[in-house]
Amino acid sequence: MSVLRIAVVYPDLLGTYGDTGNGVILERRAAERGIAAELLMARSSEPLPEADLYCLGGGEDGPQVLAAERLVADGGLRRATEAGATIFAVCAGFQIIGASFPDAAGNRHDGVGLIDVTTTKGSGPRCVGEVAVDPDPALGLSRLSGFENHGGVSTLGEAAALGTVVAGVGNGAGPAIEGAYRGHVLGTYLHGPVLARNPDLADLLLRWATGSGELEVLDDAAALDLRSERLASVGC
Ligand code: GLN
Repeated sequence: MSVLRIAVVYPDLLGTYGDTGNGVILERRAAERGIAAELLMARSSEPLPEADLYCLGGGEDGPQVLAAERLVADGGLRRATEAGATIFAVCAGFQIIGASFPDAAGNRHDGVGLIDVTTTKGSGPRCVGEVAVDPDPALGLSRLSGFENHGGVSTLGEAAALGTVVAGVGNGAGPAIEGAYRGHVLGTYLHGPVLARNPDLADLLLRWATGSGELEVLDDAAALDLRSERLASVGC
């Protein structure tokens, strides 16, 4: 590809906790390696642009329903996924890329159906706080740090978990697992923005999107200090 196109999907609806920063981080980490990258802020009033890597962030219950309806009607995210695009989705975004999720009243809404994950309203208190996750060894990542705040709980079908929860709740529906991935589609409950705290997760997404086996090593000292400090706050 000549230019890596990174789209932040509906930042006007899905951007809680600075999740739009995930797109900025991906663009910067590409540019620092001399990979030409373009960051597209894809507003919900416009057709979804074509891109190689899409980022979806968290959102309140109402905007989340609106975003899902618009994405289903648009059809672009499904087409892009089928064409091999990389999808990275956080919290409300994670729920939206699955089969279905609840609104504030508990009513079921269709997701885009990019990954076999179903979200329902949790019966316990909202899941709020710092999270530490040991990623699936197949992904080759180090321990992940993030912040969660969700009422929905998610059950995986065919998808693999992103990792095992060491601190916090994660998906919240049974086993202590967090997130999901299948192919180049990856969802997580971790805010942060999570790619600011976990540079190797950002690089995994860049490798998926560019097809590069190896990426030039960057100086991540500040990000790794932040991650250590956050992990230490939950005894990890
Ligand atoms: N509205 C969703 C829930 O509470 C997602 C929240 C979020 O994105 N932080 O489960």
